[in-house]
Amino acid sequence: MDKLKKLASNVTKKMSQKTVKPSNMKPGKDILHSFSGHCPVCDKPTLYISETHNLRSNLFCKNCRSIPRERAFAWCLNEFLPNWRKLVVHESSPAKRSISDMLERQCKHYIASQYFPGIAGGEFKDGVRCENLEELSFADDSIDLHCHLDVMEHVNMPGACFAEMQRTLKPGGKIIFTTPVYEGKLKTERRAQYGPDGIKYIAEPEYHGNPIDDQGALVTFHYGSDFANLIRAWAPQCSVTMITILDPQLGVLGQFREVFILTKYAKNILAGAK
Ligand SMILES: [Zn+2]
Repeated sequence: MDKLKKLASNVTKKMSQKTVKPSNMKPGKDILHSFSGHCPVCDKPTLYISETHNLRSNLFCKNCRSIPRERAFAWCLNEFLPNWRKLVVHESSPAKRSISDMLERQCKHYIASQYFPGIAGGEFKDGVRCENLEELSFADDSIDLHCHLDVMEHVNMPGACFAEMQRTLKPGGKIIFTTPVYEGKLKTERRAQYGPDGIKYIAEPEYHGNPIDDQGALVTFHYGSDFANLIRAWAPQCSVTMITILDPQLGVLGQFREVFILTKYAKNILAGAK
């Protein structure tokens, strides 16, 4: 177990070392990649810059510091739900930057939540609402948009999460999210499992940055090309669309660029399906 912990801590350290802040960058020096374009997060002409070849984590917008998956999400949000500013939007596990700042600032009915083990859904800890995606406290048909960025690869029971998001969505509502989908991987792989006796590691432990825990967030799944079919089985009242953007103008480059857009069917379709 100690060996696993050490390994996991090394992975976390490596990941945090890879991330650099654009404010530390000297223009013209140390920059390996730069693209000009129009950022869909801050809605301004900008320069995207990276000091490393890991564009996924380090290709920042010079204005708002957004990264590629945040810009891919923002583009899809504007394209598929252009009136989002007026809607009831729930974001799970916001990172207090970029997209979350944009939603909080511009969205009239924005609800942010984090998962705190041991705290009931709908209760607050230090002013932050607690919600477990596997057991949401929201009423049926009450949310216009559930969204999250790189959260689904950390949950224990994705099927329960999708069933709960579907239950609480209004008919016609959407779930828009990002999560890594592994190219060439046909079948989704569970990497770790939370159980009554603690964590069962099935594969080498892998952690990503976590906005509310310095220890990082444990990766529980590597999703494969069967993921859309799995979602359909978990949320049969929703259509599933996958978008993969490749566009230097939008600053969407690098690995793992998929955005998922689920739409809960309208009432008449749902009634007909019964
Ligand atoms: Zn920007």
